[in-house]
Amino acid sequence: MALVDLATGSLVADPAECATLLEPTADANALAAAAGGNAGPIAIRFPTFGDGRGISLAVLLRERHGFKGEIRAVGYLIPDLAQFLLRSGFDTAEIADPEQASVWKASVSRIQRNYQRGTRNLLPLRRDASRQEAEALDQRLARVKSLTDRIREMRRKIEGRIVFSTSLGLEDQAILHAIAESGAEIDVFTLDTGRLFPEVLETVELSELRYGVRIRLVAPDSAEVEQLVARDGVFGFRHAVENRKSCCEVRKVRPLNRELTGAQGWISGLRREHSDERASVPLAAWDDAHALLKVNPVADWSTQDLTAYIAANNVPVNPLHARGFVSIGCAPCTRAVQPGEHPRAGRWWWENEEKKECGLHLNPNREGRAA
Ligand code: SF4
Repeated sequence: MALVDLATGSLVADPAECATLLEPTADANALAAAAGGNAGPIAIRFPTFGDGRGISLAVLLRERHGFKGEIRAVGYLIPDLAQFLLRSGFDTAEIADPEQASVWKASVSRIQRNYQRGTRNLLPLRRDASRQEAEALDQRLARVKSLTDRIREMRRKIEGRIVFSTSLGLEDQAILHAIAESGAEIDVFTLDTGRLFPEVLETVELSELRYGVRIRLVAPDSAEVEQLVARDGVFGFRHAVENRKSCCEVRKVRPLNRELTGAQGWISGLRREHSDERASVPLAAWDDAHALLKVNPVADWSTQDLTAYIAANNVPVNPLHARGFVSIGCAPCTRAVQPGEHPRAGRWWWENEEKKECGLHLNPNREGRAA
């Protein structure tokens, strides 16, 4: 047996032992256990020619479970599969005959560019055009002053599903008001982490009654939450930044990614005034990571603009704001801020400033940096 590196088509000199072997019948619990249990390679078996279930398993490991380690294809494999394996998240493939390595290498490089989305290359051909469309929309939105008209303009320009992930904060409530006023078809949801303040849920109901919309509550994967709590404890996120990031990953980032899959547009309430990291947030930008257009329709608003809009339109707001809470996340991770403190000082206040992002908003212009 030999191992081919699918990215290069070369033989792997010293393969690591696989920690887990998944059969094509593996269910969600088996995938979660494999992804969460170790950092070693996960092998997925292809029992017969024409059985493509292993490809779906690799995509789920990457996109649903965020597995970053090596995924290895084993079993009945032919070189023609090389591109499909690579694009669906596999790193390596076990082959019976090392002499076949050159055939695999040729197969890997046969198709240079793909129209369809893969786990590694997100719409590469569409991306260039999409970036230009995003820049054009960014400039157009800058010329439109009314928030309602900005929503209408983006709805007019983006074909397909547009989602609005609301935290029920002030910015998001202003945007919800504008969405309702615009009549635009937008899918509105909030991430129900299981740790929300009751006041957030009260604000959900208040807003639904006021605007006649349904705000979907999107829950994390229950098996993933159980594993996280079993490993780190019920308040494990207080004890290490890595634990906290794992908690945000399971309760927020993965559910968000699931909701963004297949969407063409994503509305968020980021503002440039929020932090230095957000100082250059555009009104619209192509988001490579999620392969969609991300629109921040209040990016250029000042706090004064925001509070004036809310007062003028009598927008319902979370009652916690009146008690000193500014940026509101999960209950155990949010406190009120004192006058003069930074608005985000009440989030994960026990951590260093530069580490305080949950990973929901990655800056598309600075890969890996939170916006
Ligand atoms: S904000 Fe706190 S409780 Fe909420 S997901 Fe992040 S670490 Fe977990």
